Amino acid sequence: MDVTNTNPGRAWADIILVNGTLLTMDKEYSILHDGAVAISGRDISAVGPPDVVLAHYQSKHIIDCSDCIIMPGLINAHTHLPMSLLRGLADDLRLDVWLHGYIIPVEREFVNPEFCFLGTQLSCAELIRSGVTCFADMYYFEEEVAWAAVQAGMRGICGETITKTPTPDASDFEVSLRYCSDLISHWSGHETIIPAPAPHSVYMCTDEILRRTTQMAVAANVPQLIHLDETNDETVNWLRTTGQRPARWLEDQGVLAAHTVAAHCVHASEEELDILKNNDVGIIHNPTSNLKLASGIAPVAQMLSRGMSVGLGTDGCASNNDQDMLEEMRLAALLSKAAVGDPMAVPAHSALAMATINGARALHLDDIIGSLEVGKRADIAVVRMDQLYQLPRFETTGQNVYSRLVYATKSSDVRDVIINGKIVLRDAQLLTIDESRVMAQASQLTEGVNHFFVAREHSLLDKLVAIGGSLEQREMYEIQAKGVIASLDGFLEALHDSKLTVTLHTSRNQYDTYFFFDDPQQGRLRYREDNVIEENGTLTPSYTLTLVGPVKEAEYEHSVVLSRSRFTANADRSLRFYREYFNPAYVREITKHRERYHIRYQGVDFAVNIDQITLPAQPQVYLEIKSRTWSEQDAFRKAALIGDLLSILGTNPRDMRIDAYIDLFHDDPA
Ligand SMILES: [Zn+2]
Repeated sequence: MDVTNTNPGRAWADIILVNGTLLTMDKEYSILHDGAVAISGRDISAVGPPDVVLAHYQSKHIIDCSDCIIMPGLINAHTHLPMSLLRGLADDLRLDVWLHGYIIPVEREFVNPEFCFLGTQLSCAELIRSGVTCFADMYYFEEEVAWAAVQAGMRGICGETITKTPTPDASDFEVSLRYCSDLISHWSGHETIIPAPAPHSVYMCTDEILRRTTQMAVAANVPQLIHLDETNDETVNWLRTTGQRPARWLEDQGVLAAHTVAAHCVHASEEELDILKNNDVGIIHNPTSNLKLASGIAPVAQMLSRGMSVGLGTDGCASNNDQDMLEEMRLAALLSKAAVGDPMAVPAHSALAMATINGARALHLDDIIGSLEVGKRADIAVVRMDQLYQLPRFETTGQNVYSRLVYATKSSDVRDVIINGKIVLRDAQLLTIDESRVMAQASQLTEGVNHFFVAREHSLLDKLVAIGGSLEQREMYEIQAKGVIASLDGFLEALHDSKLTVTLHTSRNQYDTYFFFDDPQQGRLRYREDNVIEENGTLTPSYTLTLVGPVKEAEYEHSVVLSRSRFTANADRSLRFYREYFNPAYVREITKHRERYHIRYQGVDFAVNIDQITLPAQPQVYLEIKSRTWSEQDAFRKAALIGDLLSILGTNPRDMRIDAYIDLFHDDPA
């Protein structure tokens, strides 16, 4: 029994919860099978058996919790609240395709203050309904997130996300840093909102950004939130570029001097776990998100056995797709058992601890929340335990009640939620959020998002634009002639013709992959790895992605004039990324060795290529002459000049072809 009222006679409490099973989550994991909690103002003023609590406290508001568990409110220690508005937008994709192909484009288009406010309201409703009283958020426009959370009556860390690239609320990271600094000044000392910098990750930030956010967090004594070691790619690439694994690098940069909260740590090595433990970094495990994005399974059992502070998070709705912390607890327990091949790993009470006291410790908030103890804030969830899947109620091991809660209880069983001493959910009715209004507004807003994506999926160009990069519309008309040449020596000799000037010569190996689509009117995409062979034999590769629209062609004497739309962008992502993102009907490859001569003839520049197709291997050598222009009239003038060039270079017009190589040497699948 623990009470603050030591006066003779009964003190007044604002609320007294009685007759429930109390899971205190204190140091001893004390359970009171018939317990009571008195709440005075924002704080817990007494915890003990009902008769003892009621001997010290009286209240006009006594809530009967028979057949219920009374436990600390759950802590969703890693989420992106406004992303509830993107739930189900694009699923079953790899992290990079999902993020760069879908989430970032839609965020660029739609994320604004209203979006963030509404998305946070929607999320708060969902969180409260699953017994969550505190969150740690990382998103944009965190001012709006904070206001929506205050209105919903939730406690939360509002982490302003900062990246080296522009974000929906900042044209560059200087603007982000300023926003974050203002957020911190505005909310510092607030009763339920803790502002924080949230540099996205090592790979989305620079060392300068991280240095400055760390200074900010240390100066204001607020936590710093970051994603860490989420995917194998992240960890391996960081090791390759810096020579250090991410956690070691963060320590060296001084970033861990702040109260750091690191989400994921799926791929943290033993050495990194030591570093994180020594720097008192809170780790947030997000089992559903890690499974859904196939990021891997975090070494949670190892973390816990080292005594690290491990909390639980749902991650954002776009990668989960819900924010049900009961489900997350269950999965955390089950997944760890399978991961280490030990059913004793992460028992039910440990899973609940991750969602309560350990989560509070991971967020550096365990002095005020995480357990039912006198003097802590009254953040409490009351959960019904009278459903058929919660019966029978064995008390054989002292742990049965945790099993009932973690392995069998649903978030719909959450009956009452109290945050900072205020009731926000009573008898499963939300008191702080008008759910039907929020849901109606959400479906209205997301109609626009839906329309945007439906339109985009029908246009290769829109899809190409959506993933950014500088897109260049190259030319409208291409004049070309192509044919087999009889002799390479004859061609090389002809180059010396006094009417021709060779302005540049390069040798290159080109690897082209074409994406074809069911509707030929869509055009097709070419991913080209172009390796220029330097004089010393080294290769200089470049990667481009070219959208070739449907071609209209006109034959002109010996050459052909093609009019087409053609867009080229630097391909800064992997071929695998583009294949998964564009999802072509079929893919064809062609590779060749190319000797490219830039030739000036009659004041006009032509590219003359001598091509040996190596895949699918061809016996002949091809000559290709090309020129480009924006004007149809100019195109026909150049077509005439190509006729002259062909005869100078000694090719027989009868051997000319008009098709692209990919069409010459590959049949379309029937
Ligand atoms: Zn996240």
